[in-house]
Amino acid sequence: MNDIILLKQGEVILKGLNRSRFEDRLMAIAARRLRPYGKFGISARQSIIYVEPKDDQCDMDGAIQALRQVFGIVSISRGVACEKDEDAIFATARDYLRDEFAKARSFKVESKRADKRFHLTSVQLSQYVGGLLSEAYPEVEVDVHDPDLSVHLEVREKAAYVHGAPLMGAGGMPVGTNGRVVSLLSGGIDSPVSTWMAAKRGVEIIPVHFFSFPYTSQLAKEKVVTLAHILSGWCGRMDVQVVPFTHIQEEIRDKCPEDYSTIIMRRFMMRIAHRIAVNNACTGIVTGESLGQVASQTLEAMGVTGACTTLPVIRPLICMDKTDIVKLAREIGTFDTSILPYEDCCTVFTPRHPRTRPRPADVEAAEAALDVDGLVEEAMAGIERIKATK
Ligand code: ATP
Ligand code: MG
Repeated sequence: MNDIILLKQGEVILKGLNRSRFEDRLMAIAARRLRPYGKFGISARQSIIYVEPKDDQCDMDGAIQALRQVFGIVSISRGVACEKDEDAIFATARDYLRDEFAKARSFKVESKRADKRFHLTSVQLSQYVGGLLSEAYPEVEVDVHDPDLSVHLEVREKAAYVHGAPLMGAGGMPVGTNGRVVSLLSGGIDSPVSTWMAAKRGVEIIPVHFFSFPYTSQLAKEKVVTLAHILSGWCGRMDVQVVPFTHIQEEIRDKCPEDYSTIIMRRFMMRIAHRIAVNNACTGIVTGESLGQVASQTLEAMGVTGACTTLPVIRPLICMDKTDIVKLAREIGTFDTSILPYEDCCTVFTPRHPRTRPRPADVEAAEAALDVDGLVEEAMAGIERIKATK
C-alpha cells in the first residue's frame, strides 16, 4: 500500500529550540490515537509528519477522523507516494485523483520542492504536470484562482507525494506542551467548550465536578462523565474528580445571607479547585464563565471568586456570545449531551436576588459563619475519581 497521510504542524514550528519537544509530543499523541486503526509508521521530516500504514488492514478513514481531533495539526492530507520523476508524478496524479477529476469543472496544480536537488523548480513542475493533466482530462479547465480541485505535488527527500485538497486539522498546540490545569466542568453548555479551548492551547486537563447528591441526581454525574468522555477524544485520557459538595451547600443555605449564597458557593469551588491543582502539579484553573452571563459572572463577582486562588484563572469564554459558544459546542460534539435536562449544583438553592456587585468585605463577613477550612478538608477527603477515556 502506497497510501500516506501527511500532517502539517501549526504553531509548533515557531518554537525554535523547543520544536523537537513539541514535535515528539505530537507524534506520541498521534501514535496513541491511531492505535485502534491498525499499525502505522510515524516519522517527521522538514516539519511534516508522515503517517504510513504498515499493511492493508489499516483503517485509513478512521485514522483520519482520529487525527482531526489532535491539537497541533493544522492540515491533514491523504495522498500517495511515488518516484521523484515528473512523468511518474503525473501518472500518479492522473490515476490517484481520477474520482476527484470526474467531479471537478476546474483544477490547478500546486507544487512544493522541499528537495532542492530535484531538477525542476516548483513552477516548472506545476506547468509540466498541469499540461499533461489538461490533456488527460480535457473537460476540466485550468483555473489558478478559484479551482474546484487543487492538485498538490510535493517533492521531498525520500519520495514525491501527490494529494488532493487537505482537510483542516484541529489547530492549536499538542496537549501537554503548555502545562496542566484543573478545569471546572459542570453539565452545562459552557464548561465543556472552555475545557476544549484550553486543551487546544496545549494544556493537559484535570476535570473537576462539584456534585450535590441527592439534590443533583446520579444521572447528572453520569452526564458530566459522558461530557468528559467526549472531550477525551480531543484532550486524551482524563479522570474526572468528583467533589462532594452537598454539605458545603447546606451549610451556606443554613448560615449565610441568601443573596450572598451563590458567590460564597463559587468561592468554595475556587478554593477546592486550587487545592486539587496544587496536589496534581497544575498551574492554572479554567472555568466556563462569560462576562455578564449571570449574576456570578460580573467583573466584581469574578474578582471576589478569583481572590480565593493565587493561580491564574483562565476563562476562555469570557468575551464570547452565547450563540458562538453554542456553535462551538455543536462542532466539538458536546452540545447534545449538555442539553440533557439534569440539575446542576448551581441551580440548587438559587437565591431570588443574587448580589451582582458583591463587596469583598461583606462576602468575608458572611463567610465568617462557616468553618471554611474544615468544609474544604471534608470535601477534599471525599473526592471520587472516575475514568473518562475514549
Ligand atoms: P455551564 O454551561 O458551564 O454550566 P453556566 O453558564 O451555567 O455554565 P455557572 O453555573 O455560573 O455558569 O458556572 C460558571 C462556571 O463554573 C461553569 O462554566 C463551570 O466552569 C463552573 N461550574 C459551575 N457549576 C459547576 C459544577 N457543578 N462543577 C464544576 N464546575 C462548575
Ligand atoms: Mg452551570
